[in-house]
Amino acid sequence: MTKYQGGCLGGAVRYKAEAEPINERVCHCRLCQKAIGAAFNARLLFRLDDVTIEGHVATINTSPDLKRGFCPACGTTMFSRRDSRGIIGVTSGSLDDPSVFKPDMHFWTTSKQLWLQLDDGLPQYEGAPPA
Ligand SMILES: [Zn+2]
Ligand SMILES: [Zn+2]
Repeated sequence: MTKYQGGCLGGAVRYKAEAEPINERVCHCRLCQKAIGAAFNARLLFRLDDVTIEGHVATINTSPDLKRGFCPACGTTMFSRRDSRGIIGVTSGSLDDPSVFKPDMHFWTTSKQLWLQLDDGLPQYEGAPPA
């Protein structure tokens, strides 16, 4: 069974990744909060070539280089894709088994929601993580 696979709530969009993620991170930026409608974006980053997507995905650019992908039928946000770098983020909540998500850091914590207490011991960065 493929470890990293998932899809939208309604089932119209399915995806799977055949390789391990490049990293697994939690982004607290306002763009992620807005785009996902959640307190933060807990996402796995993959090489675009390693991810297969089935079904129709609608996209919106939230910055010139970043396309968010969601299901136009049910609204589930699954992807954040940067073609210029050949990478795609996948929301952990859309995984079939979200327990495979093992975050390695928090970033953009300057816009972290105030009620949220981070006590998991992971590195925290106020802005973009170091390259
Ligand atoms: Zn973000
Ligand atoms: Zn859907």
